[in-house]
Amino acid sequence: MGNAFDVIIVGGGAAGIGAARRLAAHGSSAVLLEASARLGGRAFTQELGGYPLDLGCEWLHSGDRNSWVAIAEASGFQVDRGEPPWSMAHPGITQDEDAQEAAQKAYGDWEERLRSVAADSDRASDALEPGGVWNAYVRAIAGFMSGVGPEEISAIDYLAYDDASTGRNWHVPLGYGTLVAASLPSATTLRLATPAERIDLTADGVAVTTRAGTVRVGAAILTVSTAVLAGDAIRLPSGTDPWREAAAALPLGRNEKVFLEIGRDAAFEADTHAYGNLDDARSAAYSIRPHGWPVIEAFLGGDGARIVAEEGPAAGFAHVSAELASLFGSDVASAIRPLAATSWSRMASIGGAYSCALPGRSDARARLARPFEDRLFFAGEATHPFDFTTAHGAHDSGVRAADEALAALGDRRGEAA
Ligand SMILES: Cc1cc2nc3c(=O)[nH]c(=O)nc-3n(C[C@H](O)[C@H](O)[C@H](O)COP(=O)(O)OP(=O)(O)OC[C@H]3O[C@@H](n4cnc5c(N)ncnc54)[C@H](O)[C@@H]3O)c2cc1C
Repeated sequence: MGNAFDVIIVGGGAAGIGAARRLAAHGSSAVLLEASARLGGRAFTQELGGYPLDLGCEWLHSGDRNSWVAIAEASGFQVDRGEPPWSMAHPGITQDEDAQEAAQKAYGDWEERLRSVAADSDRASDALEPGGVWNAYVRAIAGFMSGVGPEEISAIDYLAYDDASTGRNWHVPLGYGTLVAASLPSATTLRLATPAERIDLTADGVAVTTRAGTVRVGAAILTVSTAVLAGDAIRLPSGTDPWREAAAALPLGRNEKVFLEIGRDAAFEADTHAYGNLDDARSAAYSIRPHGWPVIEAFLGGDGARIVAEEGPAAGFAHVSAELASLFGSDVASAIRPLAATSWSRMASIGGAYSCALPGRSDARARLARPFEDRLFFAGEATHPFDFTTAHGAHDSGVRAADEALAALGDRRGEAA
């Protein structure tokens, strides 16, 4: 590989693609290195059972200010602005509505108490009511949001996301992953299956080394997950320890999905939702027959996702099948069969679901987002100040890093002239 590019982008997820789009719009040349054999990273739509299912991001959160909406519509993707199915409980399931209301209220009360915890210990578990009857439910919802238990969540960080969210959750029927992967501009040179192994500063820029050789460019934008950044897969220049330390303070939580195919669909209402077990922190949230498809999607977080991540897909299927049997009756077992289970935590190039600041470490996002020596720029969901954990936050962080790189390159050219 030669020296033919202004900027190198490391990582082809939503952040890398956001950066590439910004650089292409500016007329700057860029090469994007992606470790895996596909684009999209944690945005991944797979055709399973004939349906485009999102294994990673699925919902265009804060849809009314989500950058992917305009990108989708400009390139002909339909965006569904309807209410998400989790607002429509499946009728007739054996769950007490009063108990559900009480559990939801307990979660709302916990969130309110987070505000005083934020000013104190910053440990979200300190906002749990001691011995509270709905603590398992609060843990499960916090697990969906952050992928970890409240002991490992910064209250300030949790509230920053919550306060910024507009509560609009839209959807791309062809798949969020399809949209993200289709959005790399044709001007960007793409190298799949080409992990960056080492990054060094040079007199006038950066050298990035892969198995295929070394690329010399003016600036590099690094978009890999915090798990990758804090690990040892990429050797970074000396002086970057504070960035690796910031990444370690923003570990990825565990969130996994399990998909089941419905063999005979009489028992299941389309576009509805169910919650597994209000008394179990490992419980899943079920999206039932999305778009009318004969599919159930189980979403697990924290301790629930740990079952899939550590014990494997068969244990995940067994866990969700047992929950569905207790909701819909035991003969449901003959109506469903395993379709797929994710393993985000086990993928070396990702290493988890999304970032969550440790208690007392909500400052790590801003620290990670700082440029290094005006040559190395950091993007990725974890660097966004409030839309972290999302694909639109990742995209916008890539745009921010591209603007920083362009400004640095412009300054250096100005100085050299
Ligand atoms: C189960 C699940 C559900 C989710 N649901 C939603 C949702 O509904 N809505 C939402 O907005 N978000 C959701 N998210 C989060 C969202 O998917 C992520 O926040 C976002 O996609 C992250 O994008 P990124 O570009 O920051 O990182 P990534 O997507 O991780 O991209 C980084 C890329 O870098 C590559 N890479 C790693 N190492 C190297 C290397 N050495 N060299 C080159 N490349 C490398 C990786 O392979 C990867 O492709 C979900 C995530 C999961 C796991």
